[in-house]
Amino acid sequence: MKSLRLQMESLRPATDRPSPWSVPKILRSVEPDGRGSEVDTTTVFLTGAECPFRCTMCDLWQYTSWEETPVGAIPFQLSQVLTTEDSVKRQWLKLYNASNFFDSRSVPQGDLGAIAETCSRFERVIVENHPRFCDGRMQSFAQAIRGQLEVAMGLETIHPHAAAAMNKGMSLEDFDKAVERCLGLGIDVRVFVLLHPPGIAIDESIAWTWKTVAYAFERHVRHVSIIPVRTGNGWIDRLISAGEYQLPTVGMVRGLLACYGDGDWRVPMSSVLEFDLWDWENLSGGCAVCRRTLKEHLARCNRNQEFLTFNASKIDCECLV
Ligand code: SF4
Ligand SMILES: [Zn+2]
Repeated sequence: MKSLRLQMESLRPATDRPSPWSVPKILRSVEPDGRGSEVDTTTVFLTGAECPFRCTMCDLWQYTSWEETPVGAIPFQLSQVLTTEDSVKRQWLKLYNASNFFDSRSVPQGDLGAIAETCSRFERVIVENHPRFCDGRMQSFAQAIRGQLEVAMGLETIHPHAAAAMNKGMSLEDFDKAVERCLGLGIDVRVFVLLHPPGIAIDESIAWTWKTVAYAFERHVRHVSIIPVRTGNGWIDRLISAGEYQLPTVGMVRGLLACYGDGDWRVPMSSVLEFDLWDWENLSGGCAVCRRTLKEHLARCNRNQEFLTFNASKIDCECLV
């Protein structure tokens, strides 16, 4: 019997893995700052070694390399895309490496100084990292950059069965300790929460998403992003073809918004709740009217944080909430 890790790897679709010496993709956008304004932000999608964990819903491995990241490759990538304009006009920088920024296999420790130098003009630097890699390297990097470090971590769900089935390699205690450590060092925390991970009944899924968001904010994280589970990693596709799982839909997002405010929690002052619209076009369900209305509404909510202004039943279409 193959281990879960080997089973997951064997189900991955064939794909060419990128080189750590290629020019990375970048995205220039704006981010809500939690104080009613938006901040010009550059995201650099770095290429380095794959994450050592094997979360069952994760498709990020396809943007990584098998081999350990060579020394110099990450500074090289940054030098190819960060222009003077980024340093002058863009205040925040996201360094997303589809893995863990403080895993030396993905970002060699010897490169952290050069990377910190490159980031020195930015007010805030946001990196992705698993709670089990929040160690001394993180502390040194936070001290080496001039701006504010923010560490983005996947909490995904606090549903006990779904969290165990995700194979995330962490417990809630690990997550709590990592958040405490970050906050104790003056590092901000951003958290990813999944909409409808496998292992939760459809009629309970929305409530568990909000419970997980509330759990994160109770721990004083600065930013929570809700991300719908997507296909493409092999494992999720297998569950779908076996009839064991259905992806979240536009209808579920509509239901999610309709239930915002039902619980006894609120987004804390200066914190940010965001619905991730990155893969919106691939969400199924809804008609042209509610898809467009919801997307526009979510984009507005992400900007102004007024999630309560939405009335799902007021969208003039035939789809059910
Ligand atoms: S820890 Fe993050 S990058 Fe690693 S497998 Fe899990 S979701 Fe993917
Ligand atoms: Zn509709």
